[in-house]
Parts: sequence; C-alpha cells; structure tokens
Amino acid sequence: MTSSVSGRLFVGGEWLAPRDDFADLNPAKLDEVVGTFPHATPEEVASAVSSARDAFPGWRRTSRILRAECFDRLAQLIKRDTDALATLMARECGKNVTECRAEVVEGLHMVQWVFGSGRTGVYGEVVASEIAEKDAFTRRKPWGVVAVVTPWNFPFAVPLWMLGPSLLEGNTCVFKPSEETPGIAQRLVELFAEAGFPAGTVNLVQGSGAVGEALVKSPSVNVVCFTGSYAVGRRIQELSAALPDRIVAAEMGGKNAVIVCDDARFDLAVNAGILSAFKTTGQRCVSASRIIVHESLMGRYAKAFVDTAKRLRFGDPLDPKNFAGPLVNRKGVEKVLSYNALAKSEGVEVLLAPDQPANGNGCFLPPFVYRTDAKPNLRVTHEEVFGPHVALIPFKTDEDAARIYNDTEYGLSMAVITESYRRMRFFRDECEYGMGYVNLPSIGAEVHLPFGGVKKSGNGHPSAAALIEAVTHKTAWTVNHG
Ligand code: NAP
Repeated sequence: MTSSVSGRLFVGGEWLAPRDDFADLNPAKLDEVVGTFPHATPEEVASAVSSARDAFPGWRRTSRILRAECFDRLAQLIKRDTDALATLMARECGKNVTECRAEVVEGLHMVQWVFGSGRTGVYGEVVASEIAEKDAFTRRKPWGVVAVVTPWNFPFAVPLWMLGPSLLEGNTCVFKPSEETPGIAQRLVELFAEAGFPAGTVNLVQGSGAVGEALVKSPSVNVVCFTGSYAVGRRIQELSAALPDRIVAAEMGGKNAVIVCDDARFDLAVNAGILSAFKTTGQRCVSASRIIVHESLMGRYAKAFVDTAKRLRFGDPLDPKNFAGPLVNRKGVEKVLSYNALAKSEGVEVLLAPDQPANGNGCFLPPFVYRTDAKPNLRVTHEEVFGPHVALIPFKTDEDAARIYNDTEYGLSMAVITESYRRMRFFRDECEYGMGYVNLPSIGAEVHLPFGGVKKSGNGHPSAAALIEAVTHKTAWTVNHG
C-alpha cells in the first residue's frame, strides 16, 4: 500500500489546511493517486507574496553567512531523506528511481554550493575614483520578492538552482512548482521549514499555470526566476514588460543535437546518441532530438541505433533495472504521437515507430526514429517535441554539420563525437549553444558550471553564479574622506 500526500500551501510560515482540488497521478499507473492538492486562489497567491514582502527586511538584514548556514542544515536533511525523496519523485513524474536519486544529489550539491558561497562570495568591490579624496565602491543588494516558477521534469534540483541563490542573497521567495509534481515540491518546502528558514522567506503556492500567471502578474514580485517551455517563458516576459523594474531570468526549451563525425569511436557514438535521445524518455531540456551523422557512417549508424533503441526497457520507474519510464501524462503522449504523425506527413523515412502506446494504464510510449535530409521547413526537425522522438540527419562536411545544428530557433546543448581536437574546436566556436559536450551525451549538469542557453533557450542567466546577478542589484557608493 503506497501512501498519499495531503497537499497544503505554505504561507508566512504556516501550513494552510489541506484541500483536494486536484489529484496528482502516477504516470506509470494512472489509477494510483500520489496525492491531492489545493489550487491556490488569487487571494492565497496575494497573501504568499505579501508574506514574502513582510519577511524581506528581516532576512535582508540577516548576515549573509547566517543565511548560508540555514543551507547547511538543509543539506543534512536532504541527505537524511534522499531515498524517500527519490521514490516520491519517481512515483510522481515517472522518471526512473536511479535518475531521481541522482537528481536529489544534484539538489544537494546546489545547497552545498550555496552554503560554501556564503563565506566565499564577493558582494562588493572597491573601484577607482576620479577624485583622490573619494573612495568609491560597489555593493550588491537583494531585489526583494522572487517568484520561482518551475517545470515538472527536474522537480527537486531546478527549484533549488533558483531558490538557493535567491535566498542566499537576501531575497524572499514564492515558489510555484508544476502541477505535475506538487508532492516533491511540498516535501522540499517542508525541509526548508525544518531547516529553520524564518517564516515568510519561502512560501509555496500550488496549482495550474493560472496560479503561476497570478503570481507573475503581482507588481510586488521584483524578480521572476522561470524554467520551462519557451511559450510560457515568452508569456512571462510579455506580462513582465508592463512592470518597469521587473527582472526575468528564463531558462527554456531546446532542439539539441549530437554530431557524429566520421572519425568517431563507433560504439561511443551510438551510446551517446541513445542516452541523449532516450534518457528520461527524451524529456530533458537537453535531450537530443537530432543526431547529425557523417554520411559515410549513416547506414551502419542507423542500424545500430535502431537495434539498440528496440532493446531499451521502458517500465516501472521504481524498478532500477528499467532504462526509463513513461511520459509525464496523457497530454505528453498525445503531443509526441502528433509529432510522430507529422513526421510521416512531412515525408521522412521512418526507421522505428510505436504501433500504439504500450500500456493502457500508464503513459508509456516506445521510441520513434526517422531519417531525413536537413530541410529548412521541416517542422519536426525544428520544434521541441519533448519525448522519445529523434531524427537521424546526414552531413557531408563539418561546415554542413554546424549549419544544420544551428538551423533552429533554440540553442541549449550539443555534443560532438570526434577524435580530433581541431574538429572539437571548430564545433565549439561555430555552434550556438549553452552547454557543449565532447565524446559524451548532450545531457548532464554540474552545479558550479554554467547551465543555460541562447536564442529561444534562455535569456542569459545560465548558472547559479550568474543568477546572483539577476537577483541582486549593484549600487554605487562614493565616500569623501578629504
Ligand atoms: P511549462 O509548461 O512551460 O511549465 C513550467 C511552469 O510554468 C509550470 O510550473 C507551469 O505550471 C507554469 N506555467 C504555465 N503557464 C503559466 C503562465 N501563463 N504563467 C506563469 N506560469 C505558468 O514546462 P513543463 O512542461 O513543466 O517543462 C518542460 C519544459 O521545460 C520543456 O520545454 C523543457 O525544455 C523546459 N526545461 C528547461 C530547462 C532549462 O534549464 N533550460 C530545464 C528543465 C526544463 P503547470 O505545470 O501547473 O502548468
């Protein structure tokens, strides 16, 4: 018998009474309810924002080192609960439990990074002045209230990437997680409360995109830290444009690729392509939906890729022996199926296609693989699909490969498989991306490295360290000591 979470909102340090406005289902078994949750009303969103506003002066005046020390306590609690957090995440979003565990550890690493930054971070500098009798320096100040709006696919680590730097710098937060992963979000906020973050510094509102929109529309929110799709990121940027001093840090989607050169180690190239395309059932922002293969290797590569894809086991996320789990919900299945149909109608050569969803009780969908030449108007090779749907595209020269890679509106991640340092440098310099990988899959993140994209993939706050620039503002001070 698996337990069910009673969902509550967390406002001003108080847990509100549980409500069951919506059910959170296990995508591997749609008849299993993981929990029931409240859909925050506009009044509850406003109350969460004013609690964050009220808590701001006290938190801002707390020493940066003491703020950071709350994260040390949070780290201990995450270590204590790693297995339970991973299991809940697997039930809620369908990601395999081994990947969920790795995600909890990534969240822990971010918390440790924040704790360490409390003592090492520089938050002001002495600068030159035109006048000898003046000392000039800059100092960073928090903006105020940060809205943290997050996607379902990394429901533990991504919120911490944004809550961590925001709180460290003295801002207070209102967290709006995805409607698909309210349970793990609630557990995370329970840990913040247990770690002793003062009332009002972290507030939780749950519900659909409408709740996120109400939060973003609040003029009392100074900064929006958003991770999710381009469509929603764009909407948030449009809503924020009406507020003159609103900052938006947006990390969005991708149409990522692996480039396989003719000097690639073959098995490594197949393995990197498979992991990039199908880990997390193709539902990572950095998943590759295009494998760009040198024409001399294409026949052999396509055969090995399809043979391997056929052998992958998509099944119960709680069984660590499975390669990956289901899609997150029925809507996700319908979306991928519509792109599979679109690929056929756009005239590609289908190499592997699911007959129909494998399991009526879950959102399982086996891989769809096709081959096509690069064409500028082919929607399937230009739009983010977010599922096990991948194109194999041949190229002749390295210049062609870079041009094909760049021919999308996104620029998030890429991998190049080559034994040549000269080639690696060529793709490093010619391609538009945030994260590049050599002889590795196009997926993976380390908290101290920049993570973010260009073009439609991001607006320039690509890491925790860079996010600090978004959640603080620099002030100038000149002091006359003459
Ligand atoms: P999504 O549909 O864009 O949702 C992201 C968040 O925005 C959710 O909390 C969502 O709430 C909320 N939201 C929806 N409409 C809103 C509105 N009008 N105003 C304010 N908030 C609103 O994305 P998703 O399906 O959860 O996640 C998948 C997407 O995230 C993919 O595009 C993926 O590439 C991207 N992603 C990017 C990164 C990165 O670092 N670049 C990392 C992970 C994922 P509901 O869920 O309740 O609708």
